[in-house]
Amino acid sequence: MTTLYRTCPLCEATCGIAVTVEDGAVRDVRGDPDDPFSRGHLCPKAWGLKALHEDPDRLRRPLVRVDGELREASWPDAFAAAIDKLDGVRQRHGKDAVAVYLGNPVAHSLDALLYGPALIRALGTTQRYSASSVDQLPKMVTAALMFGGELTVPVPDLDRTDRVMIFGANPVVSNGSLMTAPGVEDRLKAIVARGGQVVVVDPRRTETAALATEHVFIRPGGDAPLLLAMIEALFADGLVTLGAADGHADGVDEIRAIAARYPAERVAAAVGVDAATIRRLARDHAAAATAACYGRIGTTAQELGTLASWAVDLVNVLTGNLDRPGGAMFADPAALPGRHRKRGPVRLGRFKSRVLGLPEAFGELPVTTLADEILTPGDGQVRALLTIAGNPLLSVPGGGRLAEAIASLEVRVAVDIYRNETTRLADVILPPPMALQRDHTDLALYQLAIRNVAKYAPATLDREPDQPAEWEILLTLAKGLMGMAAAPLEAADDVVARELIARELDGAPAEIAQGWRGDDVMTALGDRRGPARLIDLLLRTGPYGDHFRSGRGGLSLAALLRQPHGVDLGPLRPRLPGVLRTPDGRIPLAPAPIVADLDRLDAWLDRPAPEVVLVGRRQLRSNNSWMHNLPPLAKGKERCTLRVHPDDAARLALVDGGQARVTSRVGEVVAPVEISDEMMPGVVSLPHGFGHDADGARLEVARAKPGVSANLVTDDALRDVSGNAAFNGVPVTVAPA
Ligand code: SF4
Repeated sequence: MTTLYRTCPLCEATCGIAVTVEDGAVRDVRGDPDDPFSRGHLCPKAWGLKALHEDPDRLRRPLVRVDGELREASWPDAFAAAIDKLDGVRQRHGKDAVAVYLGNPVAHSLDALLYGPALIRALGTTQRYSASSVDQLPKMVTAALMFGGELTVPVPDLDRTDRVMIFGANPVVSNGSLMTAPGVEDRLKAIVARGGQVVVVDPRRTETAALATEHVFIRPGGDAPLLLAMIEALFADGLVTLGAADGHADGVDEIRAIAARYPAERVAAAVGVDAATIRRLARDHAAAATAACYGRIGTTAQELGTLASWAVDLVNVLTGNLDRPGGAMFADPAALPGRHRKRGPVRLGRFKSRVLGLPEAFGELPVTTLADEILTPGDGQVRALLTIAGNPLLSVPGGGRLAEAIASLEVRVAVDIYRNETTRLADVILPPPMALQRDHTDLALYQLAIRNVAKYAPATLDREPDQPAEWEILLTLAKGLMGMAAAPLEAADDVVARELIARELDGAPAEIAQGWRGDDVMTALGDRRGPARLIDLLLRTGPYGDHFRSGRGGLSLAALLRQPHGVDLGPLRPRLPGVLRTPDGRIPLAPAPIVADLDRLDAWLDRPAPEVVLVGRRQLRSNNSWMHNLPPLAKGKERCTLRVHPDDAARLALVDGGQARVTSRVGEVVAPVEISDEMMPGVVSLPHGFGHDADGARLEVARAKPGVSANLVTDDALRDVSGNAAFNGVPVTVAPA
């Protein structure tokens, strides 16, 4: 038996794991006590890796539809079929007739992050969608506008803070999101243990609220007005101080004027928090020696998501907590593509969706309009869909209409490990290797880490015979769609490497670029191929890198591989102003596109509150819908329940364990009722990712407890200004079923 060390890729926490293998089988998965970041922490999902490897439903061979049925095919035949079908649609209807959707696991896949862009460029379509627009897009927009990069997101310095205010997040269950913090529960408990404060503002008294020093119920969608009212109180009480941002931020007077429109007394009734509490929250936050404000899915996946995400960072800036130890700080990852590239102004809305005229953000359109683009005839109508690690039928609002749309397509191709509710409709499914069969480092998530760390793990398990790596699948599709199917994969990989080298040398300081040309760097990178070569480049040109100088010390892939538990690069360090990538190197506190959205906030405040609204609910044993197919994660009591406050249950004649019919503008579902005073009155909650009863899907464990898809009632017309779906705060009616 051999024990190999790597990072769990199943959520954003990046826990170090020790995987014991024997004869190609996984014997054990444990937390790695020597991982400098997670220090042995593990959650039950990690056991899912063993189950995932063994799952008989996981695809190990490609499937191609023949005579209406998906049948196993050879890899060459499956590639040829996928390329032929996608290219056929492009030839007949133009490039924009092919849409592409990237699911959430792409963020955890080194191969997909590094080689997905080559495939998307080869498709040449503007019909690009991803899970970002059902998740964190508002935070990306505000980070780009305020700090110059969509992942330049300040994260709470949990290990040193005296107070953290958590809006719309449940890190004890999610294990942290847009905040990479393994063992986050222990870190939050440590804040309380050292006399600090953990304050949770949420329409549900969550598992995180249970360990907090204070919990405040808030009406879903009320985060932006509440935060602006706190800011008004800070100005009114003379508590505003910029701290490290002083001299780097513009627009304080404009923010003062904006906040003056939202005193606590104006917003209190609408947000469900009394004015005295709002003013006290502001004073308490300002009084803490150090403090951080943090918001997550409840603040982003709602109608006012961009305003809420912006206001979270305004509180950090205006209380002097941005970029100081114990406040909200910026990570400095070891590997970061485009680190040295100069940036122009952030331009959103460079093109618009064909049917509804919705603006793009970061090259993508809101996925809530994908059904419109498929179902509405005309020039540019979408006729084919490529999904990569995605199950949009369960993860996108208005799932009923989207199912009709995807079923109507001419061509569907999927890169996916499962025949799920979406990929069951595919014409071709190309399964990548499972997580333990891939090299791994957290290229995206270390940008959001609360401590600087680096780690790289080669594949723990061998791939099945003739199984290509995920990057090889993506690159084979890319060159096929560029009419170069016969070109050797190695040559295509060299092109990808040369492009990345050119981008990394562009703008790099002289001590890194040292007058080198691309050929010099290609030679210095040696014989590695695929993601390993690209990561070596990023490490060596990064802030901890060896800069290709022998004797300098510093990181390279070879150096990192000698540290299988990972390398601790220390606590977060102040990074202003160097971290700023805005054109003038400053922080605009009141970006025009965000300020322009305040009219919608005014309308929200004036609108009568619906009698009942629906919010989501994260669960410890679930993240992606396919996790419902893993026995260790699926076991236990029914989890797809509608949680309802006792007063609402009495008023609506609902009984615990009975069935409730939940109806919205777009559909209805029937779910078991769980009565709980953890809910705010007037708010009901359903978890997402269920609804595993579709014909043709092969997720047999999930099918045994199918639950219902919350996205049959979430409304695809409810969006934030960024285009992000508003899952939280959906008006519904609830009645006994
Ligand atoms: S918290 Fe996340 S990274 Fe850690 S073991 Fe669980 S699923 Fe894996």
